[in-house]
Amino acid sequence: MSKIAIIGSGIAGLVAARISKLQGHHVTLFEKQASPGMGAHGFDLQIDGHQILGDLPSRMFNRELWPNVTELYDELNIEYETVSASQRFFDRASGRSFSFALPLDWKAKLNAAIGAQSPPMLSSLSRLQQQAAKDLANGIVAGTFSDYLRQHGFGDEFLREFLFPALSATVCTCSDQAIGNYPASILLDAMQKIASRDGLWRVSNGSSAVVASLIQSVDELRCSTNVTSVIEDTGAVNVSFEGVDQIFDRVIVATQANHVANLCPNLPDSIQTVMGGFEYEDVSVIVHTDQQFMPEHERNWSVFNFETSHSGSMCTVWLNRFHTQWPPVSPIFQTIKPFENPSLGSIICSANLQRPVVTSSSQELWQSLTEINQRESQIKFCGSYAVPGIPLLESAVVSAQQVTR
Ligand SMILES: Cc1cc2nc3c(=O)[nH]c(=O)nc-3n(C[C@H](O)[C@H](O)[C@H](O)COP(=O)(O)OP(=O)(O)OC[C@H]3O[C@@H](n4cnc5c(N)ncnc54)[C@H](O)[C@@H]3O)c2cc1C
Repeated sequence: MSKIAIIGSGIAGLVAARISKLQGHHVTLFEKQASPGMGAHGFDLQIDGHQILGDLPSRMFNRELWPNVTELYDELNIEYETVSASQRFFDRASGRSFSFALPLDWKAKLNAAIGAQSPPMLSSLSRLQQQAAKDLANGIVAGTFSDYLRQHGFGDEFLREFLFPALSATVCTCSDQAIGNYPASILLDAMQKIASRDGLWRVSNGSSAVVASLIQSVDELRCSTNVTSVIEDTGAVNVSFEGVDQIFDRVIVATQANHVANLCPNLPDSIQTVMGGFEYEDVSVIVHTDQQFMPEHERNWSVFNFETSHSGSMCTVWLNRFHTQWPPVSPIFQTIKPFENPSLGSIICSANLQRPVVTSSSQELWQSLTEINQRESQIKFCGSYAVPGIPLLESAVVSAQQVTR
């Protein structure tokens, strides 16, 4: 039995812990936050006489884009449910708005949406999906997302008021500019898979249910423990925290890539350069009760309410409709990338998170990281940033599976 330390308890660290335990190792999991990272920002609230549990951020998945996550949840008997796809888009500059509620089988319906009766944004989306399906199948998608859209004549209104916000304020949570710089093949492929027959799902009992199940694999859980250094020496690894040194046979670093330089100061410059090459953007998420973030009349509220301005986009999720199992309580919202703060007294909780962004340099970084993880060393690296694709739960799970092989 080897002694394994895992630094970071996002889903990557938790899955690495599960696999290591199944392989018969003794697992110690370090997390600098007060509770396991995957659910660290969730909230537990008494409102209108009910206890409400919610996630921050609220995360979605489906079988097509997240096959390994779905398989894991099935293995763990984690219940999940469909998320309503009702969406509203409002542009502050032009005052334009439109809403739609795509049916579950929205891929099929979208293919029929080119008719004169359908909203222009949906017609454009349908045209894009059909063009992309052909180009991906023929392997001829290259360049950035912006390049591809320009090449195929998609207008500014469609991009700025609909497509970019739909991606930047939910699935990728980054700036609209970063969406334009994504490799086209990654976003177009993801869009095909998100439009699956089953729609999008969420874990019925939230991230805490996933954490509770995965944490059972951990022999020693050390929360509120900021690991300050991980140094390999003669075939073992020294982990330092709070003035304590502990020796392990192997360490899996499941933190964000931009924490690695401080954490592993003895790594060669070539590895530090690769880890430092992964780019991140800040993402603010606030859970609140401020109805100013919603359309004026409740009849116009959707589950996902996007708002755009010249400086970017934000999305306010109507959590009462997102969580179908909540009892009937007053409206609660989660705003991703808010333009301004909700009113004083309306904030329930908030977090400033970071999300990796994918650029034209990412492919080379992913290749280099694979080689780093294959080198003769007792320190391995995993996380959502570490494998090709949008940094999601899926990439975090896949990277954890790869480093524990
Ligand atoms: C607003 C938002 C919405 C999202 N929506 C979705 C979605 O719908 N679907 C989806 O699939 N994904 C979504 N994601 C992405 C998803 O949440 C991440 O890809 C995933 O959680 C990353 O997991 P991870 O384990 O790689 O990293 P993290 O969750 O970042 O875990 C790293 C952990 O390491 C800990 N750590 C760092 N340094 C140290 C140290 N020195 N000592 C101890 N611990 C340390 C950190 O505290 C953290 O808990 C969303 C992200 C955001 C920000």
